Amino acid sequence: MLLFYKSVDKSTLTEGFAIPSVYCDVLGEALGVRPKRGEKRTISVVVDDVEYASTLKNINFDERKYPTHKDIVQIRYAKASALAVKLREKFERSQNLLQTSANDAKILARLPENQKEFLAVYSTSRKGTILLDCITNAEFNEEASELLPWGELAVERWFDGRDPDAGIVVKTKVCKIRTLNRTIGDDLKKAYGYRCQICGQFIGEPYGSTLIHAHHIQYFTRSLNNNPSNIMILCPNHHYIIHDREPIYRPDKKEFHYRNGFVEKLLLNLHL
Ligand SMILES: [Zn+2]
Ligand SMILES: [Zn+2]
Repeated sequence: MLLFYKSVDKSTLTEGFAIPSVYCDVLGEALGVRPKRGEKRTISVVVDDVEYASTLKNINFDERKYPTHKDIVQIRYAKASALAVKLREKFERSQNLLQTSANDAKILARLPENQKEFLAVYSTSRKGTILLDCITNAEFNEEASELLPWGELAVERWFDGRDPDAGIVVKTKVCKIRTLNRTIGDDLKKAYGYRCQICGQFIGEPYGSTLIHAHHIQYFTRSLNNNPSNIMILCPNHHYIIHDREPIYRPDKKEFHYRNGFVEKLLLNLHL
């Protein structure tokens, strides 16, 4: 199943990438490999049906300095390794953009939003093995443009399983993502007890219903981002208000800022 996306940057193409801390547990469980702090283990990474050796490393850091830090787990490979060579070949576009910027002495750590490419990280049924699906910029744009005409609310409805007959026919990866990922929204809804993160209401309770919506903070039609960190659980009223008014969400303060000056803070938050 799909575990998470990683946007491609310089270190992805040369040395590896960190696992976002919210996915460390699910990755460890899926791999059946969990190095302790300071330890590393060899794992297999599959790209285009070829298996590459790589290292799963749990970084050792000074706990006295950072007492509240969670584990920092990375997937690592050498710059000259077959895996790094393969990733540079798949993400030739990112590689070129990053290289050009380095020559300009203006080194880009990340790529601009519309130039982005992604690694989709999947677990497999084989112990110690993960699969990387390379989503190039062309594929990303193609999928985003297929979804765009439907509008965000229709896509979310379809995503959410609230509109199974919605006739949205999307090819390739987005379909795969939806099939594999429906549970992300469902799990979050359960975690919040079917309550809205803005008003805290379990709107369906008196009616014996668990009706509640999963909203994408960065619109899915623009970001194709279905990671939990981009999903908010909202009652239908607040969901429609947000699409109608399009307030700015401030993740640092967990607040919505409306154009008329109204500011609303999230009442419930377990995962953002
Ligand atoms: Zn609400
Ligand atoms: Zn929404």
